[in-house]
Amino acid sequence: MSKKILVLPGDGIGQEIIAEAMKMIGCLQNEFELDVVVDEALVGGSAYDAVGSPLPETTLDLAREADAVLLGAVGGTKWESLDISLRPEKGLLGLRKELGLFANLRPAILYPQLADASTLKPEVVSGLDMMIVRELTGGIYFGQPRGVKELESGEKEGFNTLVYRESEVDRIVRVAMDIAMKRGKRLCSVDKANVLECTEMWRNVAIEAGKDYPEVELSHMYVDNAAMQLVRAPKQFDVMVTTNMFGDILSDCAAMLTGSIGMLPSASLDENGKGMYEPIHGSAPDIAGKGVANPLATILSVAMMLRYSLDNAGMADKIEQAVDQVLDQGLRTPDIMSDGCKEVGTEEMGDAVIAALMG
Ligand code: NAD
Repeated sequence: MSKKILVLPGDGIGQEIIAEAMKMIGCLQNEFELDVVVDEALVGGSAYDAVGSPLPETTLDLAREADAVLLGAVGGTKWESLDISLRPEKGLLGLRKELGLFANLRPAILYPQLADASTLKPEVVSGLDMMIVRELTGGIYFGQPRGVKELESGEKEGFNTLVYRESEVDRIVRVAMDIAMKRGKRLCSVDKANVLECTEMWRNVAIEAGKDYPEVELSHMYVDNAAMQLVRAPKQFDVMVTTNMFGDILSDCAAMLTGSIGMLPSASLDENGKGMYEPIHGSAPDIAGKGVANPLATILSVAMMLRYSLDNAGMADKIEQAVDQVLDQGLRTPDIMSDGCKEVGTEEMGDAVIAALMG
């Protein structure tokens, strides 16, 4: 039976980069017999403009029915003054929560061709290939109580709650362990167990879960040290697992080791392998509509979708090889441009990857 993909372009450059991913999916359907049905729907600011909600019920229903969701990006200055419950980002958080996408996989890979694009010395980052597994539906971003209250003195007090259940920690650690088993068999669990009781529990649960994976070398690191080690010697890491907020920060840091956020895909998975796939960057309002956005993170998100939700690792490998080939040819969007290379726009880059795929 055909698998169902729901495509959500979103806002800003989301529209432009998803257009290239759609061309890629069309090519896979026509030339490589990929058996998928593709639907498209609104999310984020464009959904708010059309129907008054960043996550319309129809979009959510289609997302629930789909085997995989491919998302561009949401957000933009136009919607920044809206009430927080109506902002585009609520569409994204709502999808993650409603679909139970608790495991966020963010690879940080430095393509050798782009070693100069990193702000770190090439010898520090060259050959970097790590995976950050971030818990996505719990922790301080969702914990209750939360808010800002006024004290008797008239001063305001803001508060959020860091909360995790053992079961939430156990399932994310196991996802990370499974990934480590398919890679270098090393997992670093990042916490702040010296200060936060909740993450002391996290560490204990990780140790217990680790007993079922005797082949995986499990280590633990405080988040402040992990941030330092990521910029000091990032190649020491294979797979890293951490909480929602720590993962949010560390994965952006790891992304910049690779030079451009325009290169990095991500996957967010539920317990059954259903996933939402998206580039890690946002809607880039500063370059939206100019035809210069790098579509490679989105195209590589299609590869992750094939690998993790559509059971087609072979095709995923082919797309990744095609991206590698295009970089070898010296084609670069402005964000990864360097001396001696040829600057291309969004469409030209997408076309080049398809041409490389077709061989
Ligand atoms: P951003 O990722 O959109 O942009 C940061 C910088 O990176 C900008 O200079 C941008 O031009 C550049 N950039 C991003 N993607 C690129 C690409 N594919 N090719 C070339 N350059 C690229 O982050 P921001 O500026 O902080 O946020 C803009 C909007 O996006 C905000 O509304 C924010 O809330 C939203 N956002 C959405 C997501 C998401 O949809 N997952 C993630 C982050 C931010």
